[in-house]
Amino acid sequence: MRSCPLSRRIPTLAWVLVVAAWTPSLTRAQDSGAPLNPLDAIAEAYVKLVLNVGSYDPDLVDAYFGPPEWRPAPPSNDQKKAFPKERFQYEAAGLLRQLDAVDGARFSPLERQRHSFLRSQMEAIKARIYLLSGVRMTFDEESKALYGVVAPPCSRASLDAVLKDLNRVLPGQGDLTRRFTEYQKQFIVPPEKVAPVFQAAIAEARRRTLLRIPLPADERFVSEEVTGQSWSAYNWYQGNHSSVIQVNTDLPVYLADLTMLAAHEGYPGHHVQNVLMESRLRRGQNWIEFCISPLFSPISLLNEGAADYGVEVAFPDRERLAFEKQVLFPLAGLDPSKAKQYSRVRQLIKRLRYADIEMARQYLDGKISKEEALAWSMKYELKTPEKAARSVRFVEQYRSYIVNYAVGEDRVKQYVEKRTGWTGKANARWRLLEELFATPHKPADLE
Ligand SMILES: [Zn+2]
Repeated sequence: MRSCPLSRRIPTLAWVLVVAAWTPSLTRAQDSGAPLNPLDAIAEAYVKLVLNVGSYDPDLVDAYFGPPEWRPAPPSNDQKKAFPKERFQYEAAGLLRQLDAVDGARFSPLERQRHSFLRSQMEAIKARIYLLSGVRMTFDEESKALYGVVAPPCSRASLDAVLKDLNRVLPGQGDLTRRFTEYQKQFIVPPEKVAPVFQAAIAEARRRTLLRIPLPADERFVSEEVTGQSWSAYNWYQGNHSSVIQVNTDLPVYLADLTMLAAHEGYPGHHVQNVLMESRLRRGQNWIEFCISPLFSPISLLNEGAADYGVEVAFPDRERLAFEKQVLFPLAGLDPSKAKQYSRVRQLIKRLRYADIEMARQYLDGKISKEEALAWSMKYELKTPEKAARSVRFVEQYRSYIVNYAVGEDRVKQYVEKRTGWTGKANARWRLLEELFATPHKPADLE
């Protein structure tokens, strides 16, 4: 059993004296190893708390590349049964009190951003601990507590209007889901072509990103195919500027998915986000809190939102169409003359992206049954029964995490385009996207 961490985390008199004596001019102690900035001590305790809670909550730690000795031993089966809720609740409350006690009057703007970032992360970790302790929250309460946002309602009428438009565009008559499934078949990438098409898409996404965002020379990734997951792809960031990107191939993979996943998981999405966070914040500022990404916290709203928005930044519609038609369609052995209409259908389908949030909200709040959730997903997201089942499994596993995609994308898009104009110069969009991960941000900054 590991040593009791409480004794190191409760604010002691000695610690309070350090806070009182600390001034920003004393903070540059990166080489001495002594954490003179009170935020450094709190940040270290925050990282260790997330790791400790994560040993009971297997999806919590999305990425960790801090000191390996900080990883706790996994709890035994007996320990797992008894989630130490009082201890974790106490630690989380203590860290929030410490954060509130820090006098930030002499902080630089960047240090103030760091302080409020840490606070919003800590609030979410505290909420996650309460959820794991058995506290019940509605879907909206949970998304607010973990990610700082509530998804706007999405009415059947608004979705029906999109279905009506799709009805005019999709070939055939009758049931739309069946027609869409039939239509999409011509864009399934043959299994043996998934790897080369994905490699080509990610190489192009990387080329476009490196023209705009400088990255460390040693940044790299490997990609692999997996099956049996509730997600379609995942970036497992390893630290040292490297990622493992997994693509789930247990269901048919469509051509457009691969362009989207290349940008979302790779460039300028999760791989680039993590590389920036590690190189600029973890190493550049020596801020230890950026060696960990807790999945159920506000940083996910930024990560997912910017990864989805990054698809259109890296591949504006017309350029995406040209690239897919000229490069990916031939590589996959598909008919490039269908590319233009496929792009139009995809843009219509994107207008349904709040449908899965609404399904999740109603299902997790007990307003619809699992069967109704599946039917909703098939009707309003035009998913096959297999894809609908995967969506419901995702929602059961990750719950209100689903808000981070559409809501996050809209927040990031508004944040960027309010500053650049929606026809703004591409350069400005890239710069803002980079800035989101090279400096600390929280959801409220996007409002
Ligand atoms: Zn993602």
